Amino acid sequence: MSEDGTALPAGVDVVVVGAGITGASIAHHLARRGVSVVVLDRSPTPAAGATGRSGGMVRGYDPDPVIGDLARASLAAYRDPARWRSGRAPLRAVGAVTAADPAEEPALREAAARIAGSAHVVAGQAEVAGVRLAGGVALVEPEAGWVAPAEVAADWLAQARADGAVVRQGVRVLGVEDRGGRPVVRTDAGVLAAGVVVAAVGPWAAEPVPGLRPATPVRARSIQVTVVARPADAPAHPTFVDLRTGGYAKPVDADRTLIGLPHLVWDSSFDAPPDPGHARATLSALTAHFPWLTAAAHLDTIRATDAYGPSPADGLLDRTDVPHVWSVRGWNGGGVKTAPEAGRLVADACAADASSDLV
Ligand SMILES: Cc1cc2nc3c(=O)[nH]c(=O)nc-3n(C[C@H](O)[C@H](O)[C@H](O)COP(=O)(O)OP(=O)(O)OC[C@H]3O[C@@H](n4cnc5c(N)ncnc54)[C@H](O)[C@@H]3O)c2cc1C
Repeated sequence: MSEDGTALPAGVDVVVVGAGITGASIAHHLARRGVSVVVLDRSPTPAAGATGRSGGMVRGYDPDPVIGDLARASLAAYRDPARWRSGRAPLRAVGAVTAADPAEEPALREAAARIAGSAHVVAGQAEVAGVRLAGGVALVEPEAGWVAPAEVAADWLAQARADGAVVRQGVRVLGVEDRGGRPVVRTDAGVLAAGVVVAAVGPWAAEPVPGLRPATPVRARSIQVTVVARPADAPAHPTFVDLRTGGYAKPVDADRTLIGLPHLVWDSSFDAPPDPGHARATLSALTAHFPWLTAAAHLDTIRATDAYGPSPADGLLDRTDVPHVWSVRGWNGGGVKTAPEAGRLVADACAADASSDLV
């Protein structure tokens, strides 16, 4: 029996392991196609993984052109009210500024041309939209911004349920085995047979349960962000990434800002305590762009992990050692901005595999 007291179905076309933003997107797209799908998440509460702690910044730009394609299609989905059960587009279109070394100006201009809307490059300016550029050039995307990742995942899971999917929070997958050429999923709530299994377990892919090990291992890497109070006289600002330092920022609401800087701690535990030294380094790196940070009150520091590994541009799915069992690639700290389109493509692949002949 699962957490909600109902038995799992005996068999299904596709089992999605993990109900974070990735699993939710895959499940939504599968159920919309009429594929029978069961989503299992070990946590009794939704968005218990990276999704629930994420800043949710979304933009059309990525240095990797394949990820850029996924991000632009995903941004279009985040902007379109018709795609959401709530009837509201989840995008908070505060705009996005990506700063870079002046040598990157031609690459940014190419990216601006690929991004629909009013994306443009700013060069030779000290500041744009309330962000100091510290000698850099900037790609400005007025149509980008941020989403609340837990809200997005909840909307997709609600759509999947409405399309017939079974979603079970509080069911932990213990292992997946090959039985007669197709997988069988062992959980703490019973066993179910599947045509295909796809693991979207985020940072837990670094220490997978038997049967879910990706052929190319991924590692859990720390991500730490700090939330500060924006002083009353500080200007509103868009989301921001500086490609030179990796520093980033986003408005949380009318009077709070989130700032972050890469935290290169590998094999970090998901619930590791905040690192105060890194929080200070983050503040110092971002002050060059937001001078008001020197007067901003520190409110919170949030630490978690994401799965890091080969770029999803090398293929969104990796094999495991069990036939018809796939592991979604690590998102390397950027899974929200690609989730709508990545989920659609993974669902296509899983639906095709589920309907292929038994081996
Ligand atoms: C602080 C922070 C800030 C971020 N900011 C951004 C950003 O601005 N923009 C962006 O694009 N990305 C950002 N990211 C990255 C992004 O949030 C992640 O890439 C994305 O949320 C990963 O989603 P997921 O569904 O793959 O994994 P998760 O959300 O981690 O979901 C995995 C799920 O699998 C479940 N699970 C694990 N093992 C099992 C098991 N054995 N059985 C059943 N269930 C299991 C877990 O309970 C969990 O719910 C950020 C991440 C963090 C931590």
